Amino acid sequence: MAKNIIDEKRIATLLEQAKPDKAFVKEVVAKSLDKRRLSLEETAALLKIDDPTTLAELFKSANKVKQEIYGNRLVIFAPLYISNLCQNECTYCAFAKSNKDINRAVLSQEQIKKESEEILKTGQKRILLVAGEDYPKAGLQYVFDAIKTVYSARDGKNNIRRLNVNLSPLEIKEFKALKKTGIGTYQLFQETYHLKTYKKMHLAGPKSDYFNRLDAIDRAFSAGIDDVGIGVLFGLYDYRFEVLALMLHIEHLEKKFGLGPHTISVPRIEPATGSAVSQKPPFPVSDTEFKKIIAILRLSVPYAGIILSTRETGEMRREAFSLGISQISAGSRTNPGGYSNGANDYHGQFSLGDHRPLDEVIYDICRLGYIPSFCTSCYRLGRTGLDFMELAKPGQIKNKCLPNALLTFKEYLMDYASPKVREIGQKIISKGLAEIPDSITRQFTEQSLAKIAVGKRDLFC
Ligand code: SAM
Ligand code: SF4
Repeated sequence: MAKNIIDEKRIATLLEQAKPDKAFVKEVVAKSLDKRRLSLEETAALLKIDDPTTLAELFKSANKVKQEIYGNRLVIFAPLYISNLCQNECTYCAFAKSNKDINRAVLSQEQIKKESEEILKTGQKRILLVAGEDYPKAGLQYVFDAIKTVYSARDGKNNIRRLNVNLSPLEIKEFKALKKTGIGTYQLFQETYHLKTYKKMHLAGPKSDYFNRLDAIDRAFSAGIDDVGIGVLFGLYDYRFEVLALMLHIEHLEKKFGLGPHTISVPRIEPATGSAVSQKPPFPVSDTEFKKIIAILRLSVPYAGIILSTRETGEMRREAFSLGISQISAGSRTNPGGYSNGANDYHGQFSLGDHRPLDEVIYDICRLGYIPSFCTSCYRLGRTGLDFMELAKPGQIKNKCLPNALLTFKEYLMDYASPKVREIGQKIISKGLAEIPDSITRQFTEQSLAKIAVGKRDLFC
């Protein structure tokens, strides 16, 4: 069992002593642009910023770091909820065991295949598989079968090329079996790093064990899963504490495994059926604070991708992109069976802020000048864990990511896009192509784009 790596006293002292001033923000940005993770003291100082001028400076700096490291790309995925059954009692979630206000469903493998096909038909290539923590008949084998089923789904020449999972903590042996299924990222959010709040929010079931959850990423790494995502459910406790605790978690992982998280997620609590806490979160995070969190994470952990879901409205998402978001879900349903049957009888986990179909989100992204990417290349070429970090840290990944974004976006334009997206998308691709610095890579991309136009698929570098 993990010793408590979250030193609450240290966090309190850091916040007390932090003094942000303009000159300091400048120094911190320079360090971040050098792709170095910030120290806890530096992150604490950024968290203390609240005058509008320095805040505006912070936002501008986060945008600069995002542009430098990630460019204009936004990687896109869709969540697939396979079950809303759960043995836990998380006070903020509609799936909590004792919640009688929702209808439950565990999708069969046929239904999972149908859902995957429906997701494919919208143009997605990446899925995040999500489930409550209860697999009644087959146990964990149900999830492993589901992963196989998703990978077996087809829409013409297209298939899901990368499946990430958001699942309850496992034991090392189980993580080893999970790795064998061919997942991309294993995601697990601590929800809150504040022990007392954690106990208050997780009333029963295996998830009520704070330390078992905190230790789970260590176990995943020990089992050989080198691609993990972590996160906080914002709204449960003071966001300043949570961000510093997240940094302590990262520091611990880097020290012990030489590797940090591949992604960080920033869910904010949304209203969930039957959950009073979700209607009135104890520490609500305002829109400005939310943007500040994203900007600070962008500067603090430059090498990690930041994920934003459809919990947020289109308007908030537009603002957040410029602050450092690198991955987004789009066209999401959080009710099991929701892609095949729309608003069916089964309940979703929480209400969504962005209900737009994928094509509309893509149009919006293009209008803002971003390049939608369905790339899965690093994972398939084995560029994960330390190999990925080595590329990501010195900003090299941009040289691979831009061509791959253009190639996968071209596939989307050919196979799934509406005429108006095709039109704006083609312009985005031409502009992106001209921005590839290396002439050989540019040539490869140009030739591959031409091949895709005549029916070739799945070209990447
Ligand atoms: N059941 C597993 C677990 O809790 O780790 C995995 C999936 S859970 C369905 C995914 C995430 O949804 C949780 O980790 C939590 O952060 C988030 N979530 C739960 N209730 C929410 C709410 N009301 N609003 C926003 N996000 C919520
Ligand atoms: Fe279950 Fe996860 Fe919801 Fe908690 S957050 S009730 S573990 S589905």
